[in-house]
Amino acid sequence: MAGILVILDGLGGRPTDLDGATCLERAATPVLDELAARGALGLMDPVAPGVRPGSDTSHLSIFGYDPQRVYTGRGAFEALGIGMDVRGGDICLRANFATVEERNGQLIVLDRRAGRLADGKPFADAINGIRLDELGVELVFRSSTEHRGALVLRGPGLSSAVSETDPHEVGVPVRQAVGQDAEARPTADAVNAFTQRAYMVLRDHPLNQERIRRGEPAANAILLRGAAVMPHLQPVTTEYGIEGACIAGGALYKGVARLAGLDVLHVAGATGDLNTDLRAKARAVLSALDKFDLVFVHIKGTDNAAHDGNAQAKRKFIERADREFFAPLAESFPWSRVHLCVSGDHTTPPAVKEHTADPVSVLFVGPAVQPDQCRQFGERAAGRGGLGRFSGRLVPQLLGYCDLGPKFGA
Ligand code: ZN
Ligand code: ZN
Repeated sequence: MAGILVILDGLGGRPTDLDGATCLERAATPVLDELAARGALGLMDPVAPGVRPGSDTSHLSIFGYDPQRVYTGRGAFEALGIGMDVRGGDICLRANFATVEERNGQLIVLDRRAGRLADGKPFADAINGIRLDELGVELVFRSSTEHRGALVLRGPGLSSAVSETDPHEVGVPVRQAVGQDAEARPTADAVNAFTQRAYMVLRDHPLNQERIRRGEPAANAILLRGAAVMPHLQPVTTEYGIEGACIAGGALYKGVARLAGLDVLHVAGATGDLNTDLRAKARAVLSALDKFDLVFVHIKGTDNAAHDGNAQAKRKFIERADREFFAPLAESFPWSRVHLCVSGDHTTPPAVKEHTADPVSVLFVGPAVQPDQCRQFGERAAGRGGLGRFSGRLVPQLLGYCDLGPKFGA
C-alpha cells in the first residue's frame, strides 16, 4: 500500500471568489469530481480553527507535527525557504548586505541595504570560504533577493539566545552580539567572529572595488538579526518505518519534507510557479510508487494566482491541474494498492491576496476509504462530506488507511 498526498497551495477559497462560488467550485474538474464520487470529503483547519496559517506551519501540521510546539520562529523556516539545507539544532539568522566604513576600529553603518544590492551571490560564495573551526562552528551563508540572505551556524552547544548585530539605523556602529545567558556566549562569539571576517573578505572583494569605482555603495558587511533554532523533528519515516519521497518546486516545501525524513526527488520542469510542468510531476509520482510508501506532491501555482488577486487565473490553474496532473494519475494508478489525499495547506481568497483562517476541502480516495454522498470536489460539498471537520494531520490519516505505522497503546 502506498499513500499519495497532493497539496495545492492556497487551494481553499470563499464564496466571494467568483460570483457566489469559490475558484475550486467554479473550476471544471471532471477527474477530481470522479474521485470525490468514489471517495470521501471533509473540511480541514490546517492548524486549528481560527488560526491563519503560514505555509510552513500548515505543512508541519499536515505532516502530523504540532506547530505550536515545534515552530521556533520565522528565521529557521525562511532559511529553508531559500533552499538552505537546515538541520535540527542549527541556528539560523536573517542577514542583510550593508555598507560600512571603518572608523577607529569600529564598523560604522552607512547603508543598511548596500544600495539594495541586485545580486549577492558572488559575495555569498566568498563568505562561504570563511572558517570558524577554532570555535567548533560550521557556517553556511546564502543570498536571496536584493540585499537579503541568511546565515546558518552548525555545531554542538549553539544557542539562539543571542542579540542582533543590526543596529537598525545608520551612522552608528555594527552592534556586538551578546549572549542572553552563559550558554549563549559561544554563539555570540561565533557571530562576532563571523561579522569581522565577513568584513575582511567583502572589503577586499574585486566586485566591491568595482562598485566603489562606479560610485556605488560597497556591499562590505553583513548585519544579522532574528536568531532562531531549527527544531529537531522526529522524521515521519522513522516513526512509521517507511520510505517517503517529495516532489515539489518550492524550496520551503522540499525543506520541510527533508526534515520529515522524505527523499527530495528532482523533477525537471517543476518550478513552483504557474508554469510548472504538471505532466512531469505526474510521471514522477507514478515512478516513485514502486520505491516509496509515501509520496508528497506540492503544487504552488494556486497560491501564486491568489496572492496576485487573480481569481480567474486560480480557477484556470485548478482546471489545468485536473487535466494535466490528476487525469494521468487516475488513469494509471494501481488503485488496489494506492490511497490518495488531495487538499490545500490553507485558504487564499484572491480578493484578500493573503492566507485566511477558513477551513480547506479535503478528498480521500482508495480501497479503505468509506465513500460518502459527495459528487463534486469543492468547499460546499466538503462541508457535507463523510470525513467531517478536523485539524491538520493528513499524513497520519493517509498512512492509517494504508495500514502503515505503529499502534498507540496495547
Ligand atoms: Zn501555502
Ligand atoms: Zn501564500
